[in-house]
Amino acid sequence: MSQPTVKSLAIGLTIDDDGLHLGDIIPDDVKRQRLDVERNTLEGWSQSARHKLLCEFAARYLPRLFDAWKKNKGALNSHMCMLNYLVSNGIPYFTRFIKQPVAQNMVAIQLERMATSNDYPSGYDAQDLGEIAQFLSSILMYQGADDAAPAHVKVVLPKLKTVMQRYRDGFADETAERCYDYLRGDPISQMMHDTIKKKINEDMNKCGVETCEATVKTHPMKGCAKCRVARYCGPEHQKQAWKKHKTVCFPCDF
Ligand SMILES: [Zn+2]
Ligand SMILES: [Zn+2]
Repeated sequence: MSQPTVKSLAIGLTIDDDGLHLGDIIPDDVKRQRLDVERNTLEGWSQSARHKLLCEFAARYLPRLFDAWKKNKGALNSHMCMLNYLVSNGIPYFTRFIKQPVAQNMVAIQLERMATSNDYPSGYDAQDLGEIAQFLSSILMYQGADDAAPAHVKVVLPKLKTVMQRYRDGFADETAERCYDYLRGDPISQMMHDTIKKKINEDMNKCGVETCEATVKTHPMKGCAKCRVARYCGPEHQKQAWKKHKTVCFPCDF
């Protein structure tokens, strides 16, 4: 198989114009298998090369990926797996996107799917269950569960418990437990989520020069006009950071 590209990922997920017509023809299982192959290949790349490709992908396709995920069904699908891959790789474009009004109901949607799916959890293997809970746990960090329907939370809790009991000490168990603790209002878990959320926000609002401590709270910061993801305390630091930043700076319309 050839090396993944931004375009090949998007075509495989049928969110590029060149693959849109295949959207209803290719079963989601096939899209997911193809994505798994590409993700496995990317895991063999250097961290910086992978980061660059995922940044470009996110800047270009994230709104479409999000729409496709909303239209897709089930607790696990190809588009969720790609969103999860962006989150778990810490792609800043995702952090920006999830703050947009259009993306505000991610937790509510995912919880509803987990609550109403007859296949969840019994129809999935340990790896899939881990991926489902990892995704939920990550978006909980950004959005909390305030928008989720209490009835859905009530149904999902015992389902998570089942996963924890079935797969002790593994990826599925650990990720399910993280969601379980948070959703039942465990104070330590909520505190940990809040701490991570705060750190993510601080990183987003901080000057793009690593050694510079300026943030939106202390300085009138300016965003990079092209990607609008990076921020700087002034033109000097923007110039200083450009050599490094230009490799992950992509035009982005969200
Ligand atoms: Zn600075
Ligand atoms: Zn930029």
